[in-house]
Amino acid sequence: MSILVVGSVAFDSIETPHGSVDHCLGGAATHFALAASYFTQVRVIAVVGEDFTPQHEKVLTDRGIDTKGLERAPGLSFHWTGSYVGNLNEAKTLGTDLNVFETFEPKIPAAYADSEYLFLANIDPVLQARVRSEMKDVRMVCGDTMNYWIADHRESLLKVLKGLDVLLINDGEAKMLSGEQNLMKAASKVMAMGPRILVVKHGEYGATAFFCDRSFLGASSISMPFRAPALPLEEVVDPTGAGDSFAGGFYGYLASQPEFTPAVFRSAMFYGGVMGSFAVERFGTERLQSVSREEIEARFQLFREISHLE
Ligand code: AMP
Repeated sequence: MSILVVGSVAFDSIETPHGSVDHCLGGAATHFALAASYFTQVRVIAVVGEDFTPQHEKVLTDRGIDTKGLERAPGLSFHWTGSYVGNLNEAKTLGTDLNVFETFEPKIPAAYADSEYLFLANIDPVLQARVRSEMKDVRMVCGDTMNYWIADHRESLLKVLKGLDVLLINDGEAKMLSGEQNLMKAASKVMAMGPRILVVKHGEYGATAFFCDRSFLGASSISMPFRAPALPLEEVVDPTGAGDSFAGGFYGYLASQPEFTPAVFRSAMFYGGVMGSFAVERFGTERLQSVSREEIEARFQLFREISHLE
């Protein structure tokens, strides 16, 4: 099974209480693809500039990620500057240099047309919608977004939400998108915008999945949510990409399974937490480049143990 992801491949300059890094490889699609690559085949659509070297691409191809859809354009790659000093749970964006993303027109290689799963990572919703419209026959569409698009590009975002099966956002974004402070009310309003499943990430506190039940007199109501824990970690070096890595573990695991049962879905929530917990242990994508399957399974067992009731 293949996941096609469209999103940012970027350079990040990050400051956390543990130090800072300048122009390390990042981007929503990069973190997602690396995390998902431990479970299934991943194909990437993004644009990079002349500062993106073969060594950077090798980080992806070493994990078996298909980079045929990585376009090279004259100029510099997308560059994001963020700080977590003061709040490890929420990035403060200090700078967003779109660079080559400003004129990006996603092109889907013919070899990607048979992808079964589509992930619309954090990127301009206009671009997300374009890729969605060209991938009509996928089995499932899952998407992400961020406060910037919710605040300033709402109309385009609402069009994307209509075509999603699953939306993954953090709790602040769910509240911002819905205008509701209560999580249940926020979830209900967000799901009325399109997605039938909503996964709300709570940073270091785990994630909650909400399921839409549209069978009830045609109205949309939500059934009992499912909450997965996060692993309490002694040291969080860099939270950048935790959300995308959660999404990669979650969606990668789902795509690797023959059918979607409630048990498979619950395990996917745990695998999301597992990959998010690895991502934050080092700056940038460093940790996600070298996790082993054994480490993933061992951590999955830890997740089971910390949330098991006899
Ligand atoms: P996360 O920490 O999982 O929410 O995502 C962090 C990643 O999102 C970083 O690697 C950034 O390069 C990327 N990012 C930040 N702002 C944007 C944006 N406006 N559009 C696309 N990607 C972004």
